[in-house]
Amino acid sequence: MKIGVLAVQGAFIEHEHMIEEIGHTAIEIRQRDDLEGLDGLILPGGESTVQGQLLNKLDMMKDIKNMISNGLPTLATCAGLILLSEHIADDDTVHIGTLPVTIKRNAYGRQLSSFVTNADIKHIGNYPMTFIRAPYIKAVGKNVKVLSEVDGKIVAAREGNQLVTAFHPELSDDLTVHEYFAQMIKSAS
Ligand code: GLN
Repeated sequence: MKIGVLAVQGAFIEHEHMIEEIGHTAIEIRQRDDLEGLDGLILPGGESTVQGQLLNKLDMMKDIKNMISNGLPTLATCAGLILLSEHIADDDTVHIGTLPVTIKRNAYGRQLSSFVTNADIKHIGNYPMTFIRAPYIKAVGKNVKVLSEVDGKIVAAREGNQLVTAFHPELSDDLTVHEYFAQMIKSAS
């Protein structure tokens, strides 16, 4: 399968390695033409404000939004989750805005905002979660399934074709989140 990884800023290389490791092809998305023929899409962590600006500048925001709205399976992590959110708390900015959740940015952290912890993810199992200046999901729309909570805060969720985590699965050596995502793509096609 061909899985696009948005490669304008942030931790995209680590996602690419994981995709290759589980036997699929990672395509770096740097311009509109790269969006052709994808089976799935990954929006990596990094800095959501910068990523959002680059998506507009490179004229990819609308295309990506349409592709996700039309069902393209998408995994979004950390800043990627912020890009997908319909609402950002205390902020009027909407980037892609396809996921009916309210996100709180830079809001979740026990140890100077970055830490690693283990917690269960529904359908996936216990998972080592790395949080870096992470957001958390404050509120979810009615069709959004909460997959994991840490300290009473939602850190993973899914709505249909969109799978999101507040932590960075690409920074662990556990492939199960990416395998679950690959399974989502298979059952969508
Ligand atoms: N703090 C970043 C933001 O608001 C997200 C952090 C991350 O992706 N590790 O975009």
